[in-house]
Amino acid sequence: MTVTQTGEATLIKSIDPTLLDSDRRVAADVDCFQCGYNLRTLPATGVCPECAGAVADSLRRPELYRASAVWLSGLLHGVRCLLFALLQLAITAAAAVVVRFAMPAVGLAGLAGLGAVMFTLVGVACLTAPERHRHGQLEREHWRQAARWSPPATCGLALVTVCIVGIFLPARVSLPVSVPFAATVFLGLVVSPFAVLRYLAILLRRTREAALARLAGHAAVALLTLGIMNFLHALLPLFTGIQALHQFRDLRLIVVGLTGLGYLVCGLLSTYVLLRSRHVFSQALAASESRRVRSD
Ligand SMILES: [Zn+2]
Repeated sequence: MTVTQTGEATLIKSIDPTLLDSDRRVAADVDCFQCGYNLRTLPATGVCPECAGAVADSLRRPELYRASAVWLSGLLHGVRCLLFALLQLAITAAAAVVVRFAMPAVGLAGLAGLGAVMFTLVGVACLTAPERHRHGQLEREHWRQAARWSPPATCGLALVTVCIVGIFLPARVSLPVSVPFAATVFLGLVVSPFAVLRYLAILLRRTREAALARLAGHAAVALLTLGIMNFLHALLPLFTGIQALHQFRDLRLIVVGLTGLGYLVCGLLSTYVLLRSRHVFSQALAASESRRVRSD
């Protein structure tokens, strides 16, 4: 094998094989990243007839960079909203600590909590918008649907729980209240954060940020673990009764402290992942927009 052949083999290996046919020609609608020319049918080792840029360079671009600018700007908007939601959650948590000492903090905690919910709903809706003209892998689609629908489902169930409490509390019937309550807590604390971060990790895998994608995956698992701990803790009064809880007051304080610390670490980790994702998505958007301008 000659030096050129070895070079060509290495070059072909670095390209996503689904983009090429058996003759190593471009078998998909891939735009030249420099001029926007459609490279379909051109040899992978050739150059663009319009701008003489290497075809392989366009094929090696991260897959996300080839997505539409409209969809990418949605991702960016979603990430920004989720960052706002995290900020408001931090304010809620801080205000909740101060609540014990000052009443005005109650209003602030409530307001920031409501803001966090609204920003999460809008952010997740933007981040999980379907990608037009692209039939994603099944795994990606499952996680997109889970991330998209678990937060609004949590809010819906929370409203149902509040209504049921209003109806049943005077009669002290615990079962009709506890089932929707448990479902709300499970969806809100266990399913939603895990699904959203898991889907973010899948999106990041379509860029060159493999380490960031792994970090998002780790953050998802950490939040899942904390969510399960918190869920079990929230359900404790339903099984043991309020009276019995007083006996385990010290143990529960330790659990609450540890979960609080865990959420602080996860919050910081998620903020870092979202800040980096914002940077990655804005780069992909800039690449997509400049390609559109060139091809016009
Ligand atoms: Zn070109």
